[in-house]
Amino acid sequence: MTSILQQQAADLFNITLTDAQSAAFDTLTTELAEWNEKMNLTAITEPDAVRVRHYLDSLSVATVVDLQDQHVIDVGTGAGFPGLPLAMAFPGLTVTLNEATGKKLKYIEHVVSALGLSNVKTLHARAEEAGQQTRHRAKYDLVLARAVARLPALLEYLLPLAKVGGAVIAMKGSTAFIEADDSGEALRVLGGELKDIIPIRLPEMEYDHQLVIVEKVKKTPGAYPRKPGTPTREPLME
Ligand code: SAM
Repeated sequence: MTSILQQQAADLFNITLTDAQSAAFDTLTTELAEWNEKMNLTAITEPDAVRVRHYLDSLSVATVVDLQDQHVIDVGTGAGFPGLPLAMAFPGLTVTLNEATGKKLKYIEHVVSALGLSNVKTLHARAEEAGQQTRHRAKYDLVLARAVARLPALLEYLLPLAKVGGAVIAMKGSTAFIEADDSGEALRVLGGELKDIIPIRLPEMEYDHQLVIVEKVKKTPGAYPRKPGTPTREPLME
């Protein structure tokens, strides 16, 4: 029988999930609730809310970018969103889940192993450090983040990790437009160009979510990202 997640992923985003993939999402829901009793991973654990606000929200990225065999990094992944559902739904992707808090990565490593995902890597670092490391700097086709920082600072985390010609997608709420207005200087300095802001309406949600899409058009100068903490303390703004 088709699950609600399978039905909604197909109807909303044209994503086909097999029965095995759907069952893997059920396992993830159980693991998330269990681990959340031991550590603070997410405020959302009720299965229907997890389906909409974590899984469908993560999968919405597929509406604006063709997900095939790209190298993707999810910065500040927390409990794995949006990168984990994308890796589960699109096995051709190679997804690096980056997180500064080691405890959260312990959970991620556990579920990645429990689900037998071979296309997920973890990276325990601050994004500002990863962006200065040769093995991560300018290595990703697609750089994602949800709920990590305001856009001017977030761009300093994300753009250094993207290849020239690659894309950054920041998953935002209603502040997307104000944050984008504040990001002119960061885009100019870091080598990004704002391409679009696409509204996403999820079932039973009152407000649209916004996908802020930025193309990496030029190399990021070596001075960026600055030291951990500096992008949020002194965001690149005129
Ligand atoms: N992206 C997840 C989501 O939407 O459910 C988690 C969002 S949570 C509010 C923000 C996460 O970003 C936290 O887990 C935090 O540890 C991580 N984080 C914040 N700043 C970071 C940085 N500079 N580098 C890496 N991770 C960071």
